[in-house]
Amino acid sequence: MKKHNFSAGPCILPQEVMQKAAEAVVELDNSGLSLIEISHRSPAFIDIMDRATSLALELLGLEGKGYKAMFLQGGASLQFIATAYNLLENKAGYCNTGTWSTKAIKEAKLLGEVVEVSSSKDANFNYIPKGFDIPTGLDYLHITTNNTIFGTQYKALPETDAVLVADSSSDIFSRQLDFSKFGILYAGAQKNMGPAGTTLVVVKEEVLGKVSHQIPSMLDYKIHADKESMFNTPPVFAVYTSMLNLEWLKNKGGIAAIEKENEAKAALMYGEIDRNPLFDGFAAKEDRSTMNATFTLNTPELKDTFEAMAKEAGLNGINGHRSVGGYRASMYNALPIASVQALVDVMKTLEQKA
Ligand SMILES: *Cc1c(COP(=O)(O)O)cnc(C)c1O
Repeated sequence: MKKHNFSAGPCILPQEVMQKAAEAVVELDNSGLSLIEISHRSPAFIDIMDRATSLALELLGLEGKGYKAMFLQGGASLQFIATAYNLLENKAGYCNTGTWSTKAIKEAKLLGEVVEVSSSKDANFNYIPKGFDIPTGLDYLHITTNNTIFGTQYKALPETDAVLVADSSSDIFSRQLDFSKFGILYAGAQKNMGPAGTTLVVVKEEVLGKVSHQIPSMLDYKIHADKESMFNTPPVFAVYTSMLNLEWLKNKGGIAAIEKENEAKAALMYGEIDRNPLFDGFAAKEDRSTMNATFTLNTPELKDTFEAMAKEAGLNGINGHRSVGGYRASMYNALPIASVQALVDVMKTLEQKA
């Protein structure tokens, strides 16, 4: 039986995408060759890379607006230092909303002055700070649009004149935003875009080339942009599978259509968390993530029963991150609402048993 996959990452992908990706590993489009054995400089792969980058810009509404999309390596984690290398000249501002922001701050500090302009550490990152002052003269302001571990998400972007940089690993392509507000947007593929192994970096070209220090080539977005993500061998399988997934999304009606589905899934999930007396939501209600719902069971005696029932129902990956505890239901684009219903049904049955 196929499981209901709530894994936080690597995460669920549409079945048809995995089917096509698997076929291409054996033979790409009747070419007599496997996707993973052809040259990345072959016309067939150049086409795939072009299609993947154009789809990314098209879905984000950034075509013709001076942006470049790149599929790079090193995960979102390498972009923590790469963004700083490319933009940090004097000082940068960071909003600290969780584990990943904290790591981004640590890396940027290796290169220059970092101002933590806001933090929700005082409450174990269960909310998104708002209404804070942003100092002037920042080279950029960095946010994490969705906090995968704590289950919080910016509903409105901070107003700033500084270049806005975002780690959107866990909510890219999940909801509509004015993406032209971002100078740099990056996302590890394995949360909502594809398999692990590539990272999407979307850069407004005018923000680059302004620092006086040298940038190591592999961290230099200008080099990667000029070389069309082929400065070195790209992760061909991860790029191809991401491309298939972006095609899947486009065929569904793009971000506007998937956003509606994601909202319906989140409403079902949070509705049950709030209704069921056995469970408590972790994140502040107004900041709740549509992607990662975090919650705890307030009756510890029922823990083993709940987990056995969840297993029996084929629910995979609902354990919370160790820094929050409890449970986390990750509801990325490819998760059907029927899977959320299956989890909600288990929560209801538990309540009847209690
Ligand atoms: C998972 C995650 C990361 C780390 O991504 P890697 O690709 O593993 O480096 C960074 N930021 C956020 C918000 C994440 O969810």
